[in-house]
Amino acid sequence: MVDNYRHKGLRKKLVDTLKKKGIKDERILTAIGKIPRHYFLDRAFEDWAYQDAAFPIGNEQTISQPYTVAYQTDLLNIKPKDKILEIGTGSGYQAAILSELGAKVYTIERQKSLFDKTSKLLKQMGYGHIRLFLKDGMEGLERFAPFDKILVTAAARTVPEALKDQLAVGGIMVIPVGDDDGQVMYRLTRLDEKKFKTEKFDYFRFVPLLGGINK
Ligand code: SAH
Repeated sequence: MVDNYRHKGLRKKLVDTLKKKGIKDERILTAIGKIPRHYFLDRAFEDWAYQDAAFPIGNEQTISQPYTVAYQTDLLNIKPKDKILEIGTGSGYQAAILSELGAKVYTIERQKSLFDKTSKLLKQMGYGHIRLFLKDGMEGLERFAPFDKILVTAAARTVPEALKDQLAVGGIMVIPVGDDDGQVMYRLTRLDEKKFKTEKFDYFRFVPLLGGINK
């Protein structure tokens, strides 16, 4: 794996693009400027890594567009030491960003081939402290609950009840909700045991959140 001056230059441009699109949080921009996104794509697509675009990573899945990664991360308001659960590990790029912000990251993927590939990559890159699970993320991760933050990176029809249950009081969940044609970004804040505040943001398009695991 090589990260040369050309990659660094492209990354700088990507950060500028994201700034122009309205991403202001310096910590997020620094993380995007630091992490070699091309490691998360197959070698042949290296040059695509620094476009602000989603890209196929195999198994009909995609690495989210950098703008989307920054947008979701921004809504989560990550604090160092936050315990966060991500649903949809995919390439691992979003998990790496969260880890750079100082969060304690738990991430779930339902596709075994992606899970295996990404586990290996994250270890190689020095993110061995990110904990990966091969599971149906709609069930959450009861064993490690409650979480300060929950991030769903696939399109949900509705907000899974298990995830609401596993959010700490005062915690925040960011989840795209809608059908295959498009989703609205929701931010839920847990006000007390029973009450949640729901805010709605922009439209996005994610791959669907599916049940069960795929070996
Ligand atoms: N966060 C990823 C982008 C993920 S794309 C990144 O940074 O690259 C969405 C991912 O969610 C896919 O890998 C898909 O397999 C996974 N997924 C879909 N439904 C899921 C579920 N119920 N549990 C866990 N992962 C799921």
